[in-house]
Amino acid sequence: MGGSERVVFQPNAEQLDRLRQAGSVAGSVLREAFSRVRPGIRSEEVCEWIEARIRELGARPAFPCNIGIDSIAAHYTPTHGDDMVIQAGVLVKVDVGVELDGFIADTAATLDLRSPYGHLVDVAREALKNALKLMKAGVKVGEIGRVIYETATRMGCRPIANLSGHEIRRFNLHAGLSIPNIPSNEPHRLKAGHVYAVEPFITLREAPGIVINTKTVNIFSVRDTSPKPKGLSQEELEALREIVSVSRGLPYTTRWLSGPAAAIHPRLYKRGLVYGYPVLVEKSGAPVSQAEHTVLVHEDGCEVLTEG
Ligand code: MN
Ligand code: MN
Repeated sequence: MGGSERVVFQPNAEQLDRLRQAGSVAGSVLREAFSRVRPGIRSEEVCEWIEARIRELGARPAFPCNIGIDSIAAHYTPTHGDDMVIQAGVLVKVDVGVELDGFIADTAATLDLRSPYGHLVDVAREALKNALKLMKAGVKVGEIGRVIYETATRMGCRPIANLSGHEIRRFNLHAGLSIPNIPSNEPHRLKAGHVYAVEPFITLREAPGIVINTKTVNIFSVRDTSPKPKGLSQEELEALREIVSVSRGLPYTTRWLSGPAAAIHPRLYKRGLVYGYPVLVEKSGAPVSQAEHTVLVHEDGCEVLTEG
């Protein structure tokens, strides 16, 4: 790679410390959560425990805890009073985001509750491991996708083609580069001092290997963090202000809102005042596994921030 492409962003020592601390909280909370997930537990209980534990450790959730059973690949978080119970015989993906002073770490893993598709867990982990080995300044993002794809294929599986990893910036979970899970000719290269989440999603070889939107939307965000009173009723304005204060522009869920704001939330969504992330499922209903770490890229390799 040419010298001109080495744009080095040097976070100061205190910022690096916050970033590493966010990563360490995310990793340890995910690991702790897995020891609590067993058949019969409500998914809401798991997510509420995770989010409370993050706060107890002095950080904040960067997004609502995601739980994805089998073909639910991403963006499912339980609603308040959600009666979804985790059953035996399934794959459970748990995806955790931690924010500390704007520094964000994002990590996920899959638990096999004696599913017939338990091997998908190993494939996602192996694909992630191989991707991380490759990561250093100057590597093309398409090469990372190639390694993930080749690992999955060699192990008799397939990555989800339309889900990808992403760069992370301060207060911005999905910023800049995408890290594909399939080969691509994208010329973009990793840069030293930048933070990336790598997250292979793996499904069965015979499945289409793409995710589609469902009608369920439980995770939202507000882009405009200074809502103007124009055209808004007093209660809508108050609800939007609460959302901004609760979410700080990051993704949120109605579980985090008070009664009045939660009650008029469907109207805010319908009117396009807040943005929704539909639950994503594998198109054919095939089971999906996921493994994710957040890394800080250096000139000669990468530092995994979310090992618990
Ligand atoms: Mn994640
Ligand atoms: Mn991510």
